[in-house]
Amino acid sequence: MAAKKEKIGVLFAAFEAVPFLKTGGLGDVAGSLPKALKKEGYDVRVVLPKVWAIPEKYRAKMTHLADFYFPLSWRSVYCGIETYTYKGITYYFIDNEYYFKRDGIYGYFDEGERMAYFSKAICEIIPYLPDFDCRILHCHDWHTALAPVYLRECYRGQGIYEKIRTVFTVHNLKFQGQMSEYVMGDIIGLQDCPAAVSQLRINHDAVNFMKGALSYSDMISTVSPSYAQEIQNPFYGEHLERIFQRRWQSLWGILNGIDTDVYDPAKDKYIAANYSAEDPHDKKLCKLALQREFNLEENETIPVVIMIGRLTQQKGLDLVSCIVDEMLELPIHLIILGTGDAEYENMLRETEYRHQDKMRLCLTFDEKLSHRMYAGGDVLLMPSLFEPCGLTQMIAMRYGTLPLVRETGGLKDSVSYYNEYTGEGTGFGFANYNAHEMLFAMKGIVGLFANEPEVWRKLLIQAMQQDFSWDHAAKTYDAMYKEVLK
Ligand code: ADP
Repeated sequence: MAAKKEKIGVLFAAFEAVPFLKTGGLGDVAGSLPKALKKEGYDVRVVLPKVWAIPEKYRAKMTHLADFYFPLSWRSVYCGIETYTYKGITYYFIDNEYYFKRDGIYGYFDEGERMAYFSKAICEIIPYLPDFDCRILHCHDWHTALAPVYLRECYRGQGIYEKIRTVFTVHNLKFQGQMSEYVMGDIIGLQDCPAAVSQLRINHDAVNFMKGALSYSDMISTVSPSYAQEIQNPFYGEHLERIFQRRWQSLWGILNGIDTDVYDPAKDKYIAANYSAEDPHDKKLCKLALQREFNLEENETIPVVIMIGRLTQQKGLDLVSCIVDEMLELPIHLIILGTGDAEYENMLRETEYRHQDKMRLCLTFDEKLSHRMYAGGDVLLMPSLFEPCGLTQMIAMRYGTLPLVRETGGLKDSVSYYNEYTGEGTGFGFANYNAHEMLFAMKGIVGLFANEPEVWRKLLIQAMQQDFSWDHAAKTYDAMYKEVLK
């Protein structure tokens, strides 16, 4: 049945992917979407950088495939290819210790050069990949954004490159890779290519990697239908809205899924008790265990509000800082897990100090704790200023933790808001980026939790019954790939 698709090779390129590396939603998506596309009949392989943050247990299992040098501007740079097959997907790791053997993952002074190197290496390795007929190069976020540019400007017309089509997916438009225009020649090496210069340049004196990908890729996508619309407007477009307007016919909005094997309250080994939509009774054991773990009053009747994610402006921390004290006057527990901007971390530290009986703050990245919180929470607060997709609210719903979200982007597309007349819904929403609107919604939720336990139970079950698997998204990616190969 899928025979004709079996041969179509898709090379996924991202800077992070679960289980090797994850700092946010990109890692989840690059880790789980290839599996779903494989089920659709594609030969999907994934290329990642061999950064030293990848746990040693994986690095030790990688085998050497090839090595060579290639030109990057005036440099001749080393490129090793290591490979490892994990759960049926073949991964290729680009090895260059100068760029990738560092303590951290992102945020270095030479980020432009690292990502230019990575993008060009993605193109360079293609002829070395065994038994692979690469027809689609699918790049994710700005770290890989120069790959479609290089592919067209440096490799066009050369053998196997000729038939490769490019897709670029925007996971976060906030990070575009903006550099001084000096990188055009000294780093990127495309200063003598007028098309590249004009497509990459912004404001006469800067270069924008993502702008290049958006202009050069055959197809572009982002991670929810609503966000695909929103980014065509200046408020959400981060100064690239004109490109999205111009390319609207090639712009797809495809809602992410989550890995329903990893996030499964019925099987999750990290949580105190397992439960399911059919029998959610033991969720309360997870809640009591969470309250105990954090030395909060063990009390089923107090709703536990959780927040998990980056503590940044995007995630609505300005709203939280405005009303957190008023919110903590409500009979709730508030547990926050995340890292981010110092101003928000400090604000939350001080708030925790003032509300030691009600609030806990964990300024760290802790995957296992996040599972315990998803299972033990009652409400997830996610008041994002903008949200391309958001996975946190989907994971929360899968664990029967009802999200309160601002109605934007992927939050709008994944949460159905409680309707008090019909009883329908899987969470709650508020429309405007307004702290008191959020507080008002939270008050209503706390009232509902206290006074309508049957309604709450029904909502919890409805949330858990939602299908957040990748199946639907994979079918839409399949349609997009067919379109790009036409
Ligand atoms: P982002 O914009 O950061 O990609 P998403 O909601 O799309 O946000 O995805 C965030 C992912 O990262 C979720 O899987 C969430 O559970 C996880 N995550 C975020 N912060 C933390 C943290 N501090 N500890 C553990 N997991 C986290």
